[in-house]
Amino acid sequence: MGNDLSRLILLQKLDVEIRQLQDEVTSLPVRQEELERQFAVAVTEYLDLKSELENAQTDKRELETKIEEEQQRHQKFKNDLMKSTNEREYTTAVREIDVARKVISQLETETLKLMEQIEKLESSLAEKTPAMELERQQVDRQLAGLRERTVDAEARLVELRSNRPGLYDLLSKEARSNYDRLSRMKSGLALAEARSHSCRGCRMSIRPQVFNDIRRAESIIMCENCGRILYYDDEAE
Ligand SMILES: [Zn+2]
Repeated sequence: MGNDLSRLILLQKLDVEIRQLQDEVTSLPVRQEELERQFAVAVTEYLDLKSELENAQTDKRELETKIEEEQQRHQKFKNDLMKSTNEREYTTAVREIDVARKVISQLETETLKLMEQIEKLESSLAEKTPAMELERQQVDRQLAGLRERTVDAEARLVELRSNRPGLYDLLSKEARSNYDRLSRMKSGLALAEARSHSCRGCRMSIRPQVFNDIRRAESIIMCENCGRILYYDDEAE
């Protein structure tokens, strides 16, 4: 029985570590996402400027297309003017040429304003780029660290899982079924340490006689309150 208890202590330690490692491995995508989210917050200003620049560039391209269309109109009326055979055609062409010129001039003014805006945005962005790149490098390093630790955790998991049967199979049938049952009921913690005359699992105090029995570790003793298997740890006490 004494052997069972020391094996149970080891088994619980092993199972606790397996669970922690599993959590570490499965939470990787969430932690990666969180890092990316923090990065996006840290460089919000930079990203805002970048999208502002992209919008301005799109607007500029649209203006350029409009100018081209207007120039074609302008050219068409110039041709009309040359081909005009009467006063009415002549007047219309002159009027339309004038309208097209004004529109082109307006569009060109808008384009100039946009180009100034684009220039300003580009220089602001260039100013903020080094800080943003530094931030990115830090995030990349953190991501690499996360992946590395996950690879280590996976390797350790394989090792622990392969060790587990060797320990579990040495337990008596009774100890095994007690452990499995309690482990299911107590979120994986079938054992609790008895320290300073109380159960560390539920804080219930333990009678001195029972506490002495636990210290002797000659039999499996369960907490009268929470039902966990109690053990005594010299070093912890
Ligand atoms: Zn208890």
